[in-house]
Amino acid sequence: MSAHKTAACPQCRQPSSLEKSNRFRPFCSQRCKLLDLGEWFAEKHTIPVVEADSGDDELPPPQDPCERLQ
Ligand SMILES: [Zn+2]
Repeated sequence: MSAHKTAACPQCRQPSSLEKSNRFRPFCSQRCKLLDLGEWFAEKHTIPVVEADSGDDELPPPQDPCERLQ
């Protein structure tokens, strides 16, 4: 029985150690962890920019809940 746990690195798909000694788990290395974080942050940054650009055409009119009751 082996106590050494490994899993595929989410970034490069290479076997990475899941031991506590691996500071970058579930990634195999710092590089893969930073790459993954970079992609995540890049996505987060692009979403508001895209919405601000394309949202100009179809802005939903502000709805007042009181108006609907009348
Ligand atoms: Zn990796």
